[in-house]
Amino acid sequence: MELETFYSKLPKVHLHTHILGMVKAETVIDLACANAVDIGVSDPAELYKYYDFRAFLDILAKVAAVIRREEDFSRVMYEAIAEDYLASRVLYSEIFVQTSVHQLFGVPYEVIIAGFEHGVRRAEAEFGIEVRLIEGINRELPSYNAVDCVRKLIARKPDRFIGIGLENFEPAGAPEHFAAAYDLARAEGLHRTAHAGEHGPAQNIVTSLGALKCERIDHGYKSVEDPTVFYRLTDNGVHFTACPTVSSRQGWNREDGHVLKKMRDGNAWISINSDDPAIINTTLAREYSLAQEFMGATPAEMAKISFRAIDATWLSASGKTALRNRFREEFSKIPELANVAFD
Ligand SMILES: [Zn+2]
Repeated sequence: MELETFYSKLPKVHLHTHILGMVKAETVIDLACANAVDIGVSDPAELYKYYDFRAFLDILAKVAAVIRREEDFSRVMYEAIAEDYLASRVLYSEIFVQTSVHQLFGVPYEVIIAGFEHGVRRAEAEFGIEVRLIEGINRELPSYNAVDCVRKLIARKPDRFIGIGLENFEPAGAPEHFAAAYDLARAEGLHRTAHAGEHGPAQNIVTSLGALKCERIDHGYKSVEDPTVFYRLTDNGVHFTACPTVSSRQGWNREDGHVLKKMRDGNAWISINSDDPAIINTTLAREYSLAQEFMGATPAEMAKISFRAIDATWLSASGKTALRNRFREEFSKIPELANVAFD
């Protein structure tokens, strides 16, 4: 079996992907027309060109600007999940959404929630998979916005929303500023993650785990530059949601080895994710293939990474057991994995 076919069939969970980075350029242009929003681009091929992180965030703002009606939220969510399932066999995902950014465009909270959840339910019913949503906290906004965001979530209790995450430009918002929002979330049983050690220091990872009581870390590459931090994290079994293409673009594909290889060689527990697949023109299947190359791993080892990522999901214990069984069943149909044990 070709490597590409192998990874498109390998069952996966997807724990680090943002809805605004999952919308196809054609859909963005289509919605810009439908809602009469001028984003200054009409050619889908031009939309996702960027040269630095600021320009990248500007693209996300353009995507957010065109999603206005309940049906738009439903459509982008459905299409994103469908792509993940059909191209990469994602059987369970936790997707970041940021309700605050859509409210800036005057969209009512209820429209955003109802639209996203409708898209999730439609995809779940059609593909027989499960999806949960993570409310993204914009760390560039003042900390009271984060508290407000969590309060809204607690009051509304949308049933597919399972936790919160800290995102946007890391140097613009140190994790400790968001402790109140995270305490509130934890008290209400919401799960917690944060982007840390990506554009900021390794210490942000330690703070996210300590002050914010995060259950996993998104990216976390800077940990490899600080051995004291790194071994403390790996000894404690911290989970990192790593993204091959994004980390490479950030300069982590170095002569002495890719950061994913360093993390794996140091026994860090990582999962493979795509972050913003539509914008960076990738699929989760392709990210697995890249990770294999960067880490010098075998397909069987990659399958084990995929299987173990189930432990890092925020599913209940019984939900994890059911998903593990489903993965084992799918693995048993893949010839390359005939002699590999998954336990
Ligand atoms: Zn991310």
